[in-house]
Amino acid sequence: MGKRRIFLTSALPYANGAIHLGHLVEYIQTDIWVRFQRMQGHEVHYCCADDTHGTPIMLRAEQDGVTPEALIARVHEEHKRDFAGFHVEFDNYYSTHSPENRELAYEFYRKLDGAGMIERRPIEQYFDPVRNLFLPDRFIKGECPKCGARDQYGDACEACGATYAPTDLKNPYSAISGAKPVKKQSEHFFFKLGNSTDFLKRWTRGVGTLQPEAANKLDEWFKAGLADWDISRDAPYFGFEIPGAPGKYFYVWLDAPIGYFASFRNLCARNNIDFAEFTDAVKSRDAGTEMIHFIGKDILYFHALFWPAMLERAGFRTPTHIHAHGFLTVNGEKMSKSRGTFITAESYLKQGLNPEWLRYYYATKLGPTMEDIDLRLDDFVARVNSDLVGKYVNIASRAARFLTDHFQGAIDVAAARQSSDPLIEGARTEGVLVGSESYDPRAFGKGIRHVMELADRINKAFDGARPWELAKDPARAKELHEICSRAIHGFYVMSILLAPILPNLAARVARDLFGMKRDFVWDDLNTIPKRIGPYKHLMTRVDAKQIAALVEANKESLQPVPPPHSQQRHAEHQAHVTKKTEGPVSTQAPPSPLPPAPGGEGKSSSASTLLTIDDFNKVDLRIARIVNAEQVEGADKLLKLTLDVGGVTKTVFAGIKTAYDPGKLNGRLTVVVANLAPRKMKFGVSEGMVLAASGDGPGLFLLSPDSGAEPGMRVK
Ligand SMILES: [Zn+2]
Repeated sequence: MGKRRIFLTSALPYANGAIHLGHLVEYIQTDIWVRFQRMQGHEVHYCCADDTHGTPIMLRAEQDGVTPEALIARVHEEHKRDFAGFHVEFDNYYSTHSPENRELAYEFYRKLDGAGMIERRPIEQYFDPVRNLFLPDRFIKGECPKCGARDQYGDACEACGATYAPTDLKNPYSAISGAKPVKKQSEHFFFKLGNSTDFLKRWTRGVGTLQPEAANKLDEWFKAGLADWDISRDAPYFGFEIPGAPGKYFYVWLDAPIGYFASFRNLCARNNIDFAEFTDAVKSRDAGTEMIHFIGKDILYFHALFWPAMLERAGFRTPTHIHAHGFLTVNGEKMSKSRGTFITAESYLKQGLNPEWLRYYYATKLGPTMEDIDLRLDDFVARVNSDLVGKYVNIASRAARFLTDHFQGAIDVAAARQSSDPLIEGARTEGVLVGSESYDPRAFGKGIRHVMELADRINKAFDGARPWELAKDPARAKELHEICSRAIHGFYVMSILLAPILPNLAARVARDLFGMKRDFVWDDLNTIPKRIGPYKHLMTRVDAKQIAALVEANKESLQPVPPPHSQQRHAEHQAHVTKKTEGPVSTQAPPSPLPPAPGGEGKSSSASTLLTIDDFNKVDLRIARIVNAEQVEGADKLLKLTLDVGGVTKTVFAGIKTAYDPGKLNGRLTVVVANLAPRKMKFGVSEGMVLAASGDGPGLFLLSPDSGAEPGMRVK
């Protein structure tokens, strides 16, 4: 097979939050695939970028009191650090807020407009009269028109699954200000997607273009009919202004996939790569290059409909393949901040956990389909310890020692080469199988099963030969040399096969143990090493305590009781890789850690158990003065409050960040539960709980005493 030339991408993470373990499924999956292709000598240009535009970025920056540019610059550094920490090696990690992307977005727009694919027409939309902005669907909430459930988003009901237009909601309100929205007209720009229906039907059924289940999913959309796609947003908006249309901006989803091109063009300019050979419709065909996108299944619609339609109409090449993966669950459930399973990349590394453990575990779970994958934390510990440490590393640690102690590190190449040896025969065959039938079609889990079966066979043969007994009998030195040489050759083969998954470990094996001056390549499967250097420690076991500490460190909750239903939803995060549906991303959600105020939950309080006065008196409620309120680095919802409770100072983390500007809280009196057991949280110890009221709607209201109350006074 000739040398493949591939331009390849992972989906662009949104630039308003941290990379978490859900994101990493995709980046690790892509990185493994890229490394495998490179080990075979193929040319791969792996590009990605931060997705930086849209209303959530604008609002988040405002909330943090910085410019959007400053926000995305900070997040860019964090994302780059996290990816590097997990050995995800992009050739270019760029930004959609770049000159290249602006230029390319304009080029696409001009070409699409020239092809008659853009239509302008007025539409009526909800407008927030307090904040003076048009509200994206996910920023309007209200009662579901079908089932009446409260606090539903403007596009779909999470209670009954109905979809509808935001104008169908009953009693709508702005999720940003809480104000009742008004209807207002504005001219919007539409991409006439329906014009590309015939092309898309052909394209999605092209050989190898999509996974079968993805193509089937698209059929459902074809049946429903492809509607025009609204590609403009009105100011204020953070993005690219549409040329010749002041106050109109490209919708973030228009310029996000173009960001793949922008990142690649930036790389091409630096490295002298011919951009057109990979992106132009005609030149890419002549050059035989490929363009491949790895994405999450939630953004299939954008990548398999809008993007190819845009590319085709604008004279660019269309993707050779789109690979969609499923979501991550942790312990069988959605990632959750209250359970501590919403784990950031940063916290994983900070706890001292080895990134290659996670790469390995994900690889065991990853297959070619869009099925979700589950990170079961106890299984994670067991798999890493039994497979990587118990089976794989164990071979080297035992066999290498005999070779260095008894044979000065020389490997009996003749013994290792014996083709009659089932061990080696197997290893060679496995090598071919793992590459062509597992890694290339992205069936990583299947590949690892082969590798671990090989490990089992090697360990069994090694143990069966009883090398520790052979080592005591000088007459049997040849036997000892043979079995150890075969075992170490098996280990060498396994290291090559695992190199795309464990790049750091494999590099150390190649260089330290086998004295190579480079990393492994796939062709090394056909060679047998002649010597082995002194064995150095390769990998430690995972301690279950480390995982418990990781979960504890990611808990962001003040109370063991689940928050009320309307807030619960926001505390739960689906592990979507790209989160820019303009939804109230987690950071803008109402706080969940806030305790329900006594009696504040109207309906539920009457149903709860009755208290005696003695029960109530157990709660030590005190007046407190907020002497200092500050932001908590890394926390979406928390403010750190320093309270004066009548001469006693307490630190309390309160989930009120979305409702209160810390500067305005200083000096204010409120009520605190003073005898709550201190609770260790991710950001420090919280020594109490301040009381606030909240209902089903937005808004959160700290309690205050009447004037005259002093810090330390008892509330009864
Ligand atoms: Zn409903």
